[in-house]
Amino acid sequence: MQPLTETEVRASLINCSAEEAAQLNLPSWFHDAPWDDLDYLGWIDPKAERRAYIIADGGLVGIRLRVPHQPAAARRTTMCALCLTTRPGGGVSLMAAPRAGDAAARLNTIGTYVCNDLACSLYIRGMRSPGRGIPARETIDVRGSVLRLRANLAAFLSRVVGEEVTTARGT
Ligand SMILES: [Zn+2]
Repeated sequence: MQPLTETEVRASLINCSAEEAAQLNLPSWFHDAPWDDLDYLGWIDPKAERRAYIIADGGLVGIRLRVPHQPAAARRTTMCALCLTTRPGGGVSLMAAPRAGDAAARLNTIGTYVCNDLACSLYIRGMRSPGRGIPARETIDVRGSVLRLRANLAAFLSRVVGEEVTTARGT
């Protein structure tokens, strides 16, 4: 994805107030982010572990999500709805994104299962391991996985925004 500035990240958020966007904390690795290997910028607020953020490539749409108190049952194996990586031990959580719009709209949320560390891009590229006990990956190639991740993210963001969102250059 194209590198983003801190100002662009804060300005991209469409489902929280400007004040909340101004208060978010960027990840420690923000200035070293592996942009070339990311399909979206995702992180947990380092000072507020119940808050997560996803910033899409291209249209600069960003959302804030709520992280559940309890991770998914630790023994269960769950699939991320964005990258379709299957992860054991609570590695995937059901996060909830307030709908875009005014404060009233934001009382409604859209949920999705997503990798706890929001590192989907690294899993599909084999740059991070999803954990022990996982069978060999399906045979789709990385390019296919990237397109699928971007499509799944666009579909999720479209539900949050309430209109169609495209997230990638040329897709
Ligand atoms: Zn994922």
